[in-house]
Amino acid sequence: MAGEIASFSDLQLSEEILKAVVRMGFDVPTPVQALTIPVMLEGRDVIAKAPTGTGKTCAFGIPLLEMLDPEAPDTQAVIVCPTRELCLQITQELRDLALYLPWVHIVAIYGGQPMQKQLTALKKTPHILVATPGRLLDHMNRGTVWLGNVYTAVLDEADEMLKMGFIKDVRRILNATPADTQVVMFSATISRDVEDVAWEYQHDAKEITVQAEGENRPAIAQYLLYCAGEDRIAAMCAIIDALDLKRVMIFGNMKSTVRRLAAQLQKQHRSVDALHGDIPQSQRNRVMQGFRDGKFEILVATDVAARGIDVDDVEAVFNYDIPEENEYYLHRIGRTGRAKRHGMAFTLAGEADQFRLRDIRKYTHSEMKEITLQDGRVLLEDGTPLE
Ligand code: ADP
Ligand code: MG
Repeated sequence: MAGEIASFSDLQLSEEILKAVVRMGFDVPTPVQALTIPVMLEGRDVIAKAPTGTGKTCAFGIPLLEMLDPEAPDTQAVIVCPTRELCLQITQELRDLALYLPWVHIVAIYGGQPMQKQLTALKKTPHILVATPGRLLDHMNRGTVWLGNVYTAVLDEADEMLKMGFIKDVRRILNATPADTQVVMFSATISRDVEDVAWEYQHDAKEITVQAEGENRPAIAQYLLYCAGEDRIAAMCAIIDALDLKRVMIFGNMKSTVRRLAAQLQKQHRSVDALHGDIPQSQRNRVMQGFRDGKFEILVATDVAARGIDVDDVEAVFNYDIPEENEYYLHRIGRTGRAKRHGMAFTLAGEADQFRLRDIRKYTHSEMKEITLQDGRVLLEDGTPLE
């Protein structure tokens, strides 16, 4: 059981991987990692149901790297995922894990990147391919990728991928791997399509389920500040300064709000950048990477543009306005307090928002503690300052 696995060394990993995991700052495996890694290492198929933020990338990434044969000249593992953003994230995490395995060649292939760049990267056969379905098929058809010796195929975010209409592509990809390929599927929900693919391509798969809520979910302290619209930027800045926050996300419902917030914060010489739907993809990647690398402190985003962002160490999330969907509230605050780290979420509301607030509280079963601002300090209801 996961509960008995206290550390990564209990999983009998190689020195190289253990060192990399320590360097990445991980102390203990998350439940999905503790449950998946040993089963994958046995060579068994896996179908894992696990929500976002539970550490799935390492759950499959670690065993994939452990199972690689440095001598084998062919592509041994393929990871198929729905979006370019995910493709890049997975590739980065695998490269971090493979830091002490310098011989490992990992290539990301996804739509939108110039073909030439990928062809160059593929000149040397990758041990591991991370790909979106369409572009992977392109390469298979051109003969620049060959999956005939793949040992493990991973479908990440399988439900999303199949929902996006990639089912035929995914079948073609799996058909191009040997019949006894280990097939590992990760999905937030087990939809009918996911079941179908599992039924068709998996054998005696181990079913793994982990919950979003639970021991691996860190506490996110949620605060509520009543504040008129025109005072909100000043209020957010006061909180950021009072708590000395260096990495925060601010959410706004509309593109125009996000644009305006970013401009006004910039005017106040805040270190800020923005993400919304009107920003071209190439620039979005740059903004996200910049935020990840700590090049600026405040990222302002719409709910949609922030989807798929995976940044560690977001200290606090601000809801500049009340999200339009209850579910967005959870998505927003889930950007902080990832994987064991504590986080804070501040919601700014007007008197007129009472009804929506009650709705969100009911939907999310969450407590928001009311705060006030006084002389540059953030105070809880009983007058104790937040620090
Ligand atoms: P998922 O794919 O389930 O949404 P990710 O694999 O993207 O989750 O992991 C979410 C975050 O948690 C990433 O920033 C990752 O680096 C971090 N993480 C993964 N495993 C651990 C761990 N064992 N301890 C701490 N942080 C971890
Ligand atoms: Mg993931």
